[in-house]
Amino acid sequence: MRFLHSKFQNIKPYTPGEQLNNPEVIKLNTNENPYPTPANVIEAATKVAATLSRYSDPTAREVIEPLAAHFGVKPEEVFVGNGSDEVLSLLFQGFAEEGINFADLTYGFYEVYRQYYQCKGETIPLQKDFTLNLADFNQTKGTIILANPNAPTGLVTPKEELLDFIQKHPERLFIVDEAYGDFANESIIKEAVKYENVVVVGTFSKSRHMAGARLGFAVSNAQRINELNRLKFSTNPYNVNSMTIACGKASLANQAYVDECVQKVIATRTWISQQLTDLGFEVLPSHTNFIFVRHPKLAGQDFYQQLKEKNILIRWFDQERIRDFCRVSIGTDEEMHKFLNVTTALLERVN
Ligand SMILES: *Cc1c(COP(=O)(O)O)cnc(C)c1O
Repeated sequence: MRFLHSKFQNIKPYTPGEQLNNPEVIKLNTNENPYPTPANVIEAATKVAATLSRYSDPTAREVIEPLAAHFGVKPEEVFVGNGSDEVLSLLFQGFAEEGINFADLTYGFYEVYRQYYQCKGETIPLQKDFTLNLADFNQTKGTIILANPNAPTGLVTPKEELLDFIQKHPERLFIVDEAYGDFANESIIKEAVKYENVVVVGTFSKSRHMAGARLGFAVSNAQRINELNRLKFSTNPYNVNSMTIACGKASLANQAYVDECVQKVIATRTWISQQLTDLGFEVLPSHTNFIFVRHPKLAGQDFYQQLKEKNILIRWFDQERIRDFCRVSIGTDEEMHKFLNVTTALLERVN
């Protein structure tokens, strides 16, 4: 007997980065914030835990209002989901009737969702230097989704260029995934609400110490947000749990700590990029909380494997064009010193 719907027989699921619960392991593989969750967020979760017998607020007002204020937009221009993965899932499900197109090297979930929802669409190769040429999408149809900054490259498309392209194509929907927006200076959130055809997606997982709480969001004009809510209220009205709503509110009330951690990550990123360059690595200019690197004498898979043997986890993608590269999340200074020491020792062996 086959019970699973035939359309899912060949689905190839997303492979999440390994989550080892071993305190000995230095985790530089899933781009979380390396600094601790602040006390006020933990307190908020603890307090709400006492009320878990009740459903969460399906309007998530308590977090949507301060989130809108943070971006200088209206609450009706904001939607929240169970991680940005859920928001992206709803967007692929509901906003890609004529197809959805994206770069060949980008967030791996886009390909999974496109298959899952059986959307049409094309995969557009990034240029040789891994930058995106927006004009290459001219030959495609339907929605365009891009991660900006992009993963796993860490590169950005300048916001002026992107906004110019969006304005020139009012008939096409643009989904801009700004999961790493806080580490760059190219966010179009403030502008997005002025257009009919842009949805910006963001997350509390990368810059806001809340990967495990699962809180993502979309900012767009009120009409698109309304439509997202129609999809949500048709599938999962209580999509964000009450502890996460409270944690999100607390995180926004503690912006200074978020900013401080983001600045520390950026400083560490600058430092480690230079150190690795000095060791002969090619380091793509990162606008995120990770770096994408390769060394002429060390295959990507070997680098990943050898670090893993030393209890340091980084990410290697078994994918055309980037097999020589590894993606390394920016950890604390202490973690990055250890990473650098082990890497230096590895290179001494191959040199
Ligand atoms: C991490 C990441 C996400 C998913 O974030 P969650 O909010 O944790 O689901 C989405 N898009 C990109 C580009 C990411 O790197």
